[in-house]
Amino acid sequence: MNPSLALAVVAICGTTLLQEQKPAQASKELQEQKPAQASKEETLPPPRTVVVRRGLDWLVGHQSEDGRWSASHFSKSCPATDKCSGRARRATDVGVTSLAIGAFLGAGSTTEHGAYSKVIKRAVAWLCKQASDGLIQGDRPCRFALVDHAVATLALVAAAETSRSTDLKSKARDALDALVESRNADGAWGYGPSDRKSDLAPTGLALWVLQEAKSWYPVPKVVSRGRKWLLAHCDAKSGRFAAAPKHGRPEAEGKMPGSSSVQQTAIGLLAGYYGRKLTPPANHSVEWLGQNKPEWRPSKIDFLYWWCGTLALTGRGREGFRSWWKAVESALLTRQEGSGHARGSWDPVGFWGEEGGRVQSTALAVLALEACKRVVIMRR
Ligand SMILES: [Zn+2]
Repeated sequence: MNPSLALAVVAICGTTLLQEQKPAQASKELQEQKPAQASKEETLPPPRTVVVRRGLDWLVGHQSEDGRWSASHFSKSCPATDKCSGRARRATDVGVTSLAIGAFLGAGSTTEHGAYSKVIKRAVAWLCKQASDGLIQGDRPCRFALVDHAVATLALVAAAETSRSTDLKSKARDALDALVESRNADGAWGYGPSDRKSDLAPTGLALWVLQEAKSWYPVPKVVSRGRKWLLAHCDAKSGRFAAAPKHGRPEAEGKMPGSSSVQQTAIGLLAGYYGRKLTPPANHSVEWLGQNKPEWRPSKIDFLYWWCGTLALTGRGREGFRSWWKAVESALLTRQEGSGHARGSWDPVGFWGEEGGRVQSTALAVLALEACKRVVIMRR
C-alpha cells in the first residue's frame, strides 16, 4: 500500500470502532464514564480513538446546513453564550471542507455507509457544486486557488474510491483533468491557475493527488515531468526540499523559521517517492524529518506538517517512524479542547493556525491521528 490519503482514510480506518457508533451515542458514552476512569484520564492521555471521535463530533456540530464547513462562520451553530473562537483569516470553505471530508472518510465512513455517511454525502455534494471552469474553488477563490482545488480533488478521489456512484467518480475525474490542464510548461504547478511560476507545495500536492487516483485514472506523462521538477528542488546534501525563490511565504517564514522547510520536505518526500523505494538524497530527507518531530511548542506546532510527515514516513523505517508516531500522539492527544462547545476541537495555533482557523486545525489533527492508526494496522 502506498502512503496516501485515500488509503490512509480507507484502509486505516475501515476496521475502527468509529463505524460502529453514531456520534450522539459516542458522546453519551463519554459522558457516562465512571469516576474512576475520569480520574485516570487526568494523568494519562485519552485513547486515540476517543480523541478522534470527539474531533469528528465537533466537526459534525459545526457543519453548515448546505453541507460545507465555513472557515470563518462555523460558530453560527454555537450557543449564544458559548461561541467557539478561531475564525480563519485566509482559509477558504473549499479548503477546510475538503480536509473535513478526509477526516470523516478516515473514520471508515463513506458516502454510502457508516456513522458519518450523511455528513460526508452532504459535504461532497456541496464541494461538487463549487466547480467553475473545471476548478473547484467556490465563490471566493484566493491566490492559492490551485492548492484548494488540489485538496478538493484529493477529497473527491478518496470519496469516489469508496463509493459505487459513477457520478461521483465522473466528478473526481473532471477535477483530475482540470488539475492536469492547469500545469505549467515546466510540468509543475503554481499556486493559482494563472500563476506561471511553479512552486513546491502546489506541485507536491498535485503529484500526490494524481498518484492517488492512478488505479483508475490514466495519469499522463505529466507526472514524470512534475516529479523531475520536484526532485530538482531537493538539496542533494541535506535532503531538504525548498520552494522556488520569491515564492515562499516571507511573513510566515519570519514568524517561524524552519517550519516552511520541514513542511515542504514532508510534501516533497510524500509526492516524490510515492510508492517508490527511497533513493539518495531521500534518506537525508527522512533523517531531517526525524530531527523535527512533532512537538507542542509555539514555535513547533504545525498540524499540516504533522499529517503530511506521518504519511511521508509511513513504511520508511520502523524505529524512526515509531518515535515520530509517538511524538504525534504526544502532541495531539492532550491538547484537544476538553470543555464547552469547543470540546473536541483544537485551538488554531502554530504555523498557519490563525490563517486556517479552528475547523482546519481540528480536521488536520484528526487526519494526523488517523494516519498514525494506519501504521498500527500495518504492523499487525
Ligand atoms: Zn461551537
